[in-house]
Amino acid sequence: MNKVKAYGATSATTPLHPLQIERREPGPYDVSIEIAYCGICHSDIHTARGEWGPTQYPCVPGHEIVGRVIQLGKRVKKFKNGDEVGVGCFVDSCGKCFQCKNHEEQFCQNHTVYTYNSMELNNTTPTYGGYSTHIVVHEDYVLKLKKGLPLAQIAPLLCAGITTYSPLKRYKVKKGTKVGVIGLGGLGHMAVKIAKAMGAHVTVFSTSPEKKEDALRLGAKTFIVSTSNDLNDYEAQLDLILDTVSAKHDFAPYLNTLKMDGTLVLVGISPEPNEVSAMSLVFGRKKITGSLIGGIKETQEMLNFCARKKVFSDIELIQAAEINQSYERTIKGQVKFRFVIDAKTFT
Ligand code: NAP
Ligand code: ZN
Ligand code: ZN
Repeated sequence: MNKVKAYGATSATTPLHPLQIERREPGPYDVSIEIAYCGICHSDIHTARGEWGPTQYPCVPGHEIVGRVIQLGKRVKKFKNGDEVGVGCFVDSCGKCFQCKNHEEQFCQNHTVYTYNSMELNNTTPTYGGYSTHIVVHEDYVLKLKKGLPLAQIAPLLCAGITTYSPLKRYKVKKGTKVGVIGLGGLGHMAVKIAKAMGAHVTVFSTSPEKKEDALRLGAKTFIVSTSNDLNDYEAQLDLILDTVSAKHDFAPYLNTLKMDGTLVLVGISPEPNEVSAMSLVFGRKKITGSLIGGIKETQEMLNFCARKKVFSDIELIQAAEINQSYERTIKGQVKFRFVIDAKTFT
């Protein structure tokens, strides 16, 4: 076991603070990674604060991890020392069930080991995330990065990127598809960039009028302030909507913007349940569905797509000591558009 520096919460109501955690010695198939950067996802905040149900403390969040390989287990085949790599929202799974075999490890029927607030397959060792200097991960759950990419701007792809790429791909977004994105935060800004790169015509719905200029710069064609009447006037325009909102809100005005048979995909996970009226679905035969990150194979595909299309995240690079204030700004929707922690600053 190696002690490493980290940042974490010891209860739902205490700010995150420096901690020491233990990382295992690499087993035969493990890769030891020196973390360079880790993004701050709103899921980190929901979890650190116990908003989605009980959290196991101490909680070291972080699942948008990039870094360099510094040590290899003796059977590792896919990586070598010095490789630039990524780790996303899960670090292991049973590997044997239908979903694992089908490259959907996030839906493992036995045990998806999430990067933090989870238990390793042995059911006794808690997992700690990327707000730390090092992590040890089985090679099958480590992503390859092309050399020379802007690492800090790649980090958010490991969650925000795959979470938006996966449903855009599944619903066959292509040139001319009309895509709506609700909420212009970490996930939302990646949804805009990726949908644009797939050829879509993108409309952003935001509660923040001041984000208009950025939305257009990121690739949106239309920007609608969701608290204005413009939303009600925007009827039957869209094929697909990605809803990235992190809090309870009314779906009806957004369903109204879908064409007949259109689909609203929930990726935002409000801690409180949302209400939906049957009326807003039956007229126009609309669908509401959800989507959870993506499997390793699809995450690798997304990373390759983003490298090819030069799609990276717009980030604000911070020091570890700024994590708590960054949480507050994220909650207020004031980040452009992802905070990323410089792992050299863990003390
Ligand atoms: P974020 O950066 O905080 O962005 C959320 C955006 O939603 C805000 O910037 C804001 O955009 C809008 N918003 C916030 N509160 C709102 C409210 N009360 N009413 C309407 N709009 C509101 O968060 P994120 O990191 O993108 O994550 C978004 C959600 O996705 C979180 O719930 C997170 O846990 C979840 N998530 C899910 C998955 C998955 O696999 N399904 C993966 C990662 C994250 P505007 O200012 O533009 O309105
Ligand atoms: Zn996330
Ligand atoms: Zn499985």
